[in-house]
Amino acid sequence: MQTKGTILIIEDEENIRDFIATSLRAQEFKAVTAKTAKEGITLAASLCPDVILLDLGLPDMDGLEVIKNVRTWSMMPVLVISARSGEKEKVEALDMGADDYITKPFGSSELMARIRTAMRHGAIVAGMGAPSEIFSTGGLQIDFGKRNVRVDGTEVHLTQVEYKIVALLARNAGQVMTYDAIISHVWGPYMDDNNRILRVNMANIRRKLEKNPAEPRYIHTEIGVGYRMVGEEEG
Ligand code: CA
Repeated sequence: MQTKGTILIIEDEENIRDFIATSLRAQEFKAVTAKTAKEGITLAASLCPDVILLDLGLPDMDGLEVIKNVRTWSMMPVLVISARSGEKEKVEALDMGADDYITKPFGSSELMARIRTAMRHGAIVAGMGAPSEIFSTGGLQIDFGKRNVRVDGTEVHLTQVEYKIVALLARNAGQVMTYDAIISHVWGPYMDDNNRILRVNMANIRRKLEKNPAEPRYIHTEIGVGYRMVGEEEG
């Protein structure tokens, strides 16, 4: 049977595992499940799934160890599913190489949107699909070739640094980028670990792009973690 892709679910809680597997199968994905980290790593290696959905609180090992293990041999997308609202764990998971996270409880439409984003990103990393040269969501349009940004058809003038930040977030639209990841991309790895300069730039970007910078439509803040540009289909 032709499926939309294979998703490996590593989750010890039966209710959640079943909910996810059922939701995925209803959407014509092949869902494979693992109850422990060890079982998950083995299945990841033998199946090479399109996306791994990973719970962090597993009985035999911390989910972070699974990410660390998988990242030694594969760039396959890892989407963390976590009950932890702790920002530290989310940042750790992202910095260890997770692509994104989704916090429990979540609905199936949110899950499907995240999986689609992760799969698209996975295809780009694998060189199977180039990101489009024009990104657009809502009234925001970014032309990467011309390096210009428009809001509702009007060109917006961004500084070099502001453009770099916006372009990076747009290239990773739908996914959260941590403060550290943005800073090292824009200013290089030796930049002082200081988020203030990023916050100042973000305030300026929002003033230029958003109708109401206090309630941003395009770039959302994930408090304590980073920023997320809304995906093309969400805008
Ligand atoms: Ca768990």
